[in-house]
Order: sequence, then structure tokens, then C-alpha cells
Amino acid sequence: MSEDDSGSGPREHAALWDEVTGWLRDHWDPDLTVDAWWKEVAGAGWTAPHLAPDQGGRGLPRRAQVVVRAAFAKHGALLPPGGLGLLMAAPTILTQGTPDQIERFVPPILEGQVNWCQLFSEPGAGSDLAGLTTRATRDGDRWIINGQKVWSSMAMTSDHGMLLARTDFDVPKHKGISWFALRLDQPGVTIRPLREMTGEAVFNEVFFDDAVVDDADLIGGAGNGWLVTQTTLHFERTGIGAGGAHAGFPEPGPKGGMLGRRAGDAARDVPPNQKLTLSFEDVVDLAKRTGRAADPHVRQDLARLYAFAETGRWNALRGRAEAARGGGQNVGSIGKLCQTRVVKLAARLGTSILGGEGMLAGADGRDDGVFAEAMVFSPASGIYGGTDEIQRNIVAERSLGLPREPAPDRDRPYGEVLRSRPSSLDGGSAG
Ligand SMILES: Cc1cc2nc3c(=O)[nH]c(=O)nc-3n(C[C@H](O)[C@H](O)[C@H](O)COP(=O)(O)OP(=O)(O)OC[C@H]3O[C@@H](n4cnc5c(N)ncnc54)[C@H](O)[C@@H]3O)c2cc1C
Repeated sequence: MSEDDSGSGPREHAALWDEVTGWLRDHWDPDLTVDAWWKEVAGAGWTAPHLAPDQGGRGLPRRAQVVVRAAFAKHGALLPPGGLGLLMAAPTILTQGTPDQIERFVPPILEGQVNWCQLFSEPGAGSDLAGLTTRATRDGDRWIINGQKVWSSMAMTSDHGMLLARTDFDVPKHKGISWFALRLDQPGVTIRPLREMTGEAVFNEVFFDDAVVDDADLIGGAGNGWLVTQTTLHFERTGIGAGGAHAGFPEPGPKGGMLGRRAGDAARDVPPNQKLTLSFEDVVDLAKRTGRAADPHVRQDLARLYAFAETGRWNALRGRAEAARGGGQNVGSIGKLCQTRVVKLAARLGTSILGGEGMLAGADGRDDGVFAEAMVFSPASGIYGGTDEIQRNIVAERSLGLPREPAPDRDRPYGEVLRSRPSSLDGGSAG
């Protein structure tokens, strides 16, 4: 698997663009079902071109995914499936799973047959993720899950969840966690949507009431969940840093309602510019179209935006080089910090260029409300995938060698740690 984004140069970019466009000329058939089209796209390695060929990819740098999807959009073809399965579950299972788990879970993700959500955060465990209290109790060859998650994006339309649960309360908090691939369609799982300031309800609360997961779906072994989680978070942050998240990709899985549709119709209904985060190029394009590209204030902010975007790209290049030498673990945090700045500044600059119209959403707004939507979504970029403060802590401690934050409970058995919500220990439910 290719680590991180290479930020490949214009020549590689043009060659890849030509290759994808040539492939689309031969293969894009709007009369196929979405199901059949996504299988063909996955078979050619275009869904996740950054994966190794024997993993279903093409062994290209991570940014290739952005180039490939842009070429699909330009051609008018339905984009490959997106979602958190592709961003996080597949690379985590490829890295930490057994051959059987890889075979069962990864191909359906690449072919868009299933959707995944991330069941990490809890009401009492966000930044302090290792403080989670959702409990998994072994029962023969299965585990019984009780507790609650929150901020679970797209859980309503997901089939599987990347579930973190505590399997051992008698060891220090980082050591008693396990990572499960949990089936969501079962009686013990209740999903309730939460309305956001964007007007959408992407977030959910998820409650587990004697939910069941097979031991065969425990990834990385019991008690090794923190290590597996680091893998997931690494892919989340490097993926976000490469601009791959929240970009309006078509939703996979049966609940997304796409699989049985005609691919040409689905392509028309998923406009390529439907995305929540904007890039430097999006804003330059807007500035040119609105005649504001010569305005010195706009140019100054564009330069700032370019600097953040380029810093992120160079950071990714450096990360790739370091990864090739066996290091470079913290580039994900730096890349994510750069991307937060790009997302926030792009939204602010875009709406200020549009003036009053920048406040209009939907079909009434200029650019169909894309900039207004990006503006209300942009504060989220400094929170999801770990807040900016936490990314800075990681860089400070692991890259700059500054003293670690005090953590007096780090080595105590988790069951002895004082918490504000002890009921989950006794009653088995964090809700
Ligand atoms: C759009 C979006 C999508 C999300 N999707 C998912 C998802 O699919 N699955 C999932 O599991 N979670 C998801 N989350 C949740 C996200 O991971 C958490 O919100 C995040 O980790 C912060 O946790 P918290 O909200 O509990 O805030 P807290 O941890 O309570 O933090 C509150 C504030 O205190 C600061 N803070 C906390 N600890 C420290 C520290 N040690 N040093 C300095 N400052 C600190 C934080 O930076 C923050 O500003 C999503 C969040 C957003 C915004």
C-alpha cells in the first residue's frame, strides 16, 4: 500500500489523467447498473488506485485518487464509491487483519457493496478516545456489546461499523481496547440521527444493547485495539490531508439506494461539485469567474491559501520519503492541520468573494450554494479526525520531543480510574 500522498508532479498527473480518460472512453456505459459499473471500476483498480495491485489498487500515490475522480467527473462518468470504509476500514483491515478478514471485508468495500461508519467517539471519550467505556464481553465464540457511541457519521446508511470497545477493565486504559467489524443490522443496535448546523443529519448516536459480534470479526486480536486504532486514525488523517474526505462521493451500500440504478442517471444526480470542503483551485476558479482575481485583498488570501495547500503537499511528499525509510509517523497530524486551514480559509474567501450571495444556500444561491454549505461545514474540519489542539499535541510530543502531557491514570487498571460516568462499568451501558 502506498503511504501518504505523494503530491505527484504535473507530468505524472497528466499521464494518469490520459490513462484514466482512455479507460473511460472504452468502458463507461451509462446503461449499466451502478452495481455492475462499480464492480468494473474496482476490477480495474480505479476505486483505490493508491492500494497495491494485489490489494485491488494500482500502487499509485494517495493523491492519484483525487486525480482519478476528477477525470471521472470531467468525463461525465459515475464516480467510484466513497465513504469511510474506503478511507479507513479497508486500509486498516489490509494492515491489521487476517487473510480471511481481508478477503471477506475488503473487496465489498472496493466494489461499493457496503457502507461503513466509524464507531469510536463516545459522550465521555472524544479527544481522550482511550477513555471509552463501551463494553465487549466474551461469550464463547462471540462478543456481547453494551454502551453508546456519538457523532457516528453516516451510521444510518451503513451496514458495518468500525467499533472500539473495552474488553478488559483490569488493565491500563490503552491496553484493554479491541477493534471489531460490527454488523449494524441486528436487534441490539439502535441508531438515532442528530441534526447539524448544516441542516443535514449526517451524525448519529448509536446505542448497543446486547449487540453481538463474532470473534472472527475481531481485528488485530483482543486488547490490541489501540494499535489497530492508530492505524485507522493514521489513514483517516492522511486521507483528510490529501483532500479525500467529505468530498461528495457517491454513497456505497444497499441503503445508499444507488446500486440498482442506471449508472448514467446516478452520475447526473451526483454533481461533481457537490462537496463540503473546497480546494485552492475551487476558489481561484471562483475569483476568475467573478472578476475578483485582480483584487489585492483577494490575491493576498489566495496566496495564503496556496501556501497552506503547498505546505500540506510538501509535508505529504516528505512523509512519503520518510515512510520509505521506515519513519514519518506524524505527517498525518501535520497534513490534517494544513487541510483544516485550507478548508476554513477557502470557505471564508469564497463566501466573501460572493458577497451577500455567499449566504444563500441551495438552488437560489450563486454556485448553487456550494460556498454557503462549505462555510457552515468548515468549523467541523478542526474537530473531526481529532481536533487541531490534539494534532498539535501529537506533533509537539512525538515530532518535537516536548514533554508529554501529564497522564496520572495512564498505568492504572482502567476499572480503578475515577470517572464522571461510572455507571457503564456496573450496568454495562454508557448511555
Ligand atoms: C464532522 C464530524 C464528523 C465526525 N465523525 C465521527 C465519526 O464518524 N465517528 C466518530 O467516532 N467520531 C466522529 N466525530 C467526532 C470527533 O472525532 C470528536 O468530536 C473529536 O475527537 C473531539 O471529541 P469531543 O467532541 O468529545 O471533544 P472533547 O474531547 O470534549 O474536546 C473539547 C475541546 O477540548 C479540547 N481538548 C480536549 N483535550 C485536550 C488536550 N489534551 N489538550 C488540548 N486541548 C484539548 C479539544 O481540542 C476541544 O476543543 C466527528 C466529528 C465531526 C465534527
